[in-house]
Amino acid sequence: MNTQLDGPVLITGCSSGIGAAVARAFLRSGATVYATARRPETLADLAEAGAHVLALDVTDEKSMQEAVSRVETEHGPLGTLVNNAGYGEYGTVEETDLDRVRRQFDTNVFGAARLIQLVLPGMRRAGRGRIVNIGSMGGRLTFPAGGYYHASKYALEALTDALRVEVAPFGIQVSLIEPGLIRTSFADTASNTLAASGGPRTSAPHEGAYAELNRNAQGVMDSGYRNHLLSATPEPVAKAVLHAARARRPRHRYVITPAAKAMVHLRRLAGSRVFDAVVRRQFRLPARAAVAQPVPVPLNQH
Ligand code: NAP
Repeated sequence: MNTQLDGPVLITGCSSGIGAAVARAFLRSGATVYATARRPETLADLAEAGAHVLALDVTDEKSMQEAVSRVETEHGPLGTLVNNAGYGEYGTVEETDLDRVRRQFDTNVFGAARLIQLVLPGMRRAGRGRIVNIGSMGGRLTFPAGGYYHASKYALEALTDALRVEVAPFGIQVSLIEPGLIRTSFADTASNTLAASGGPRTSAPHEGAYAELNRNAQGVMDSGYRNHLLSATPEPVAKAVLHAARARRPRHRYVITPAAKAMVHLRRLAGSRVFDAVVRRQFRLPARAAVAQPVPVPLNQH
């Protein structure tokens, strides 16, 4: 069922978590692996395990061009690109700083898109190639205080769907991996961003219209990642990426973790009214917040 991996593999965001696990899985399979990160000193273990390591910041055009051209010079056109680098910018739609949101889109969406543009000419010439985008179950459903992260993963879904059809005639196959809760540095980074928009880990006293929602969102995140029935290690994600890179007929989408599968099905089958009710209950949110008493308008202003 599996084909032999053809050509070198380039993986972004290998300093930790899913990226590091994916790099290790490809190395075990005997592939030529380029493991990349913004800080290449974080890749010492992977270098020792046999990976070529490169500096690659997916928000830096020069860094992306240099990485792709280095791989192509040394080993020919890319066989597989794994767009993994990414993080969650958490906070409510009203409170989150849009400059921070733009930076997140630069990483999660435009970084992946630009790398795809850079590797495709080589893949088309070779008449083969695999592109594996690390999306999220968060590209299929949305939680409050996560709207901007989900928006970036929904964007990646649309981009991947268009790309899959566009490049199929050139022998290039494209898959999306949609992990649920995976125990990596992701949750810590997300908590820090939530704090930046008024979440409970901020040093300032948390007040404001969304203080309770932010507190509950942090609580849902903490308990979800702590619960090993709801969360998983990065290894099942790496296994799916390897399948997407090697199977003769890779799947379009791989939802990872049983809990994520259940949530995606619930969202799809139940519709947004029922899903909203489930989420409101999970985040302990009333359908309507208590509002301050309306200020009486002086009679002479009627
Ligand atoms: P992680 O351990 O925090 O890893 C994120 C990686 O992305 C790190 O290597 C980080 O590098 C890198 N990165 C961030 N900005 C970058 C940039 N501008 N250029 C290059 N690399 C950059 O979290 P993870 O869980 O492994 O996340 C990997 C992917 O899985 C992300 O796309 C995430 O959205 C997705 N995902 C995660 C989960 C989950 O629950 N963990 C669920 C669904 C999807 P630095 O060390 O330099 O910051």
